[in-house]
Order: sequence, then structure tokens, then C-alpha cells
Amino acid sequence: MKFLLPILVIHFLQLQPGFGQNPLLFRDALLFDGEDFHEDWDVLVVGDRIERVGRNLNAENTGQVIDLSGLTLMPGMIEGHSHLFLHPYNETSWNDQVLQESFAERTVRATNHARETLMAGFTTVRDLGTEGAGYLDVGLKRAIEKEITPGPRMLVAGPAIVATGSYGPKGFADHVEVPLGAEQADGKDLIRVVRDQIGKGVDLIKVYADYRWGPGGQAQPTFSPDELSLIVETAASSGRPVVAHASTIEGMHRAILAGVQTIEHGDAADEGIYDLMTQYHVAICPTLAAGDAIMQYRGWNKGVDPEPERIQAKKKSFTLALEKGVEICAGGDVGVFSHGDNVRELEMMVEYGMKPKDVLRAVTSVNARVFQLQDLGRITSGALADLIVVEGHPEADISNLRNVKLVMKGGKVYLDKLDVPDK
Ligand SMILES: [Zn+2]
Repeated sequence: MKFLLPILVIHFLQLQPGFGQNPLLFRDALLFDGEDFHEDWDVLVVGDRIERVGRNLNAENTGQVIDLSGLTLMPGMIEGHSHLFLHPYNETSWNDQVLQESFAERTVRATNHARETLMAGFTTVRDLGTEGAGYLDVGLKRAIEKEITPGPRMLVAGPAIVATGSYGPKGFADHVEVPLGAEQADGKDLIRVVRDQIGKGVDLIKVYADYRWGPGGQAQPTFSPDELSLIVETAASSGRPVVAHASTIEGMHRAILAGVQTIEHGDAADEGIYDLMTQYHVAICPTLAAGDAIMQYRGWNKGVDPEPERIQAKKKSFTLALEKGVEICAGGDVGVFSHGDNVRELEMMVEYGMKPKDVLRAVTSVNARVFQLQDLGRITSGALADLIVVEGHPEADISNLRNVKLVMKGGKVYLDKLDVPDK
């Protein structure tokens, strides 16, 4: 018994020794290159990169050939909004996760979440805040890069930045100090906090442009326009983007004008906000699955009960975003629901009226472009070899993205369920 664990771990990390060695030729796939589909195309991988893409490619002398007839080959998917340090709120409330779970527990959980995310075909995540776990995301990212544990490439936000008094956990007596789910800062001090977060290893700055701190607990703007501009200006000087949590019109308005890269959630967005987003080249990450999950945690029996007002409103604003042609990222706020179930957001984008091919573009090439990941999200010569194979046609049924048969990240195979005789 005592040798069981090491054996399992070794088996898991090495997968099938021999397979996955370069060069490697994927043959006769239905290829989705991040933009469009091509039938019977080949992809040659050498080292960590895609060398060539097209029809009837020859394998290099020593190369292995994997026949993908009847299967779809596509870029590794990019999760636009994850929280690897959270797990579903119906298991443990957000407050209890922040206040009661040790950093050790949260890291062990996040390690599992990272593996589940990668195995679901998501080779990159934009992780938008550890929610009380400081810079553990920076550490997890480095551990994955060192191949200590399998996981996706990570863009990390560290603790995120909130206006003093706005964020939770809340409801304690004023003499009780509780750790918060994000870092408080205001005014000129924002310069120091942004720089401090950058120094500690964040790839981007996440701010809460509004939050539920109104007199009746409703969402209200937090930072002033000047404060938001200061945050963006300070981050931009280091080459880093700022992303804004915002659901109110005024919160979004301020964030867009300040120059954020994306608006997260954007629930109340109207025509004017979408026009402003287009004008300022800001994308929206609608996080449909999070709202859907939360309403179900609160007792909504989907498919049986009438649709709650919040869901109806979200559908309406998402439909308007489609009509207005706003740039839409794919990101579900996964962590609110289970890691590894990331496809749920893509299914909901289709359910709410987005064309399946546009959803596939969103989760690959659009996310890559918006997040400035130049070598990812496309299958093209010179790009990083982040590739997945799925069974079935994902445009015919987006849920086919759940049938992941192979995951490759940087030319290395992490999951292989292909039963190909000649490999
Ligand atoms: Zn989130």
C-alpha cells in the first residue's frame, strides 16, 4: 500500500512513455484552426511548436504519425475567467472558503483544479483573483511551469484590488479584523499597490469597478474615474493590462473610459455601453455559467421552474451584445462551478444564441487576441503546439468539446485516450 501513491503519480505524469515524442504528425483531421474548419488536414509538431499545417504533409524521418480520421483537432482552449483557488459555492460558501480553509487546503484543491482544467482541454487560463489566497496563484503557475504538477498556462491576477470598505467577507463587528478576498487601496496609494502586485508576479491587474455595497446591498460603483485611470496608467507603464469586474452601467462606463482590457460579467450592459466598448476596443467576458449556477444553488430548478428575472436579464444583455457585434470573450467564472466543467460556459453561449463557430472562435483565437497571447489560440505554423483532439464535430454540437481524447501543451502530451494502432 505504501508504494501505491508514488506509482500512480509516476504513471499519471509520464502517461504513455514513447508516445508524444517529436516530431509528430497528426493526419487527416477535421481541423479547426481557431477561425475555420478544414477537412482532412495534417499538422506537424516539432519540439514545442507547430511546424507545418496543410494537406498531405510528410512526416519527418523519425516522426510518429497519428491518424485522426473522424476526429477534430483544434487549438487548446483558453479559459477567460477562472478562479483555481475557489471551488463551487454549493459545496462551501465563498465566505467559508476565504475564512476557514487553510492556504494548504486551498493550494491542494487548486492543484487538483489545475489538472482537471488541463484534462478538459483548456491549456491556458486567465485566473482572475485568488480571493483571499494572496499570491498563491503565482506559486501555482511557477510549479506548473516547472512541471511539478500538470496544469494549464496561467495568466494570474494575485489578490485583485478593491476600494476600501466595498468587499467581503462582511458583517463582522467593527473591532474584528477579518482577512478580505482582495486587497484594499484608494487614491494615490493605488500606485504603490499596483506596483507591489506587479513586483510579486501578477500578469494583470484585476479591479472591482463596482460591487454590492449600496445602501440596500445593490451593486454600486466603487473607484472614481481618476482612481481607475491611475490604476490603468500605472499597470500600462509595466506593459500589463487591467481587467474590471463591473455589472452596473456607471461602473462599466468608468472602467471603459479608464482603458481596461475587458469587462467581466457586464450584466446591466445596454446599447450605449456596448457602443462605448466597441469605440474603446474593450471586450466583454459575460460569465453566463456563473449566474446560471448561482441561481440553481439558490433553488432554481432549471427547465422546470420559470426563469428568474436575473437569468432573463442576462439573456437579454447577451443577445444585445451579439446584435451589436461587441468582442465577446469566453470565460465562465469557473470556480463558482466545478473546474473541468469549463465547457458549460460554451454550451450556455450557444444556448443564449451565439453561433457555435463563433463560440469556438471565442474560446481560442478571440481569447488569445484579447489577452495578447500571440502564439496561442491558432493552429498555424510557428504557433505553440497547444492542441486538443475531440470526438465528434463541435460545431454540430458544442457539447462534443466534452469528449476530449488528447491534450498537448507545448508539444507535450498530457492526456491520451486515442486508440490509434499505428502510434
Ligand atoms: Zn470571477
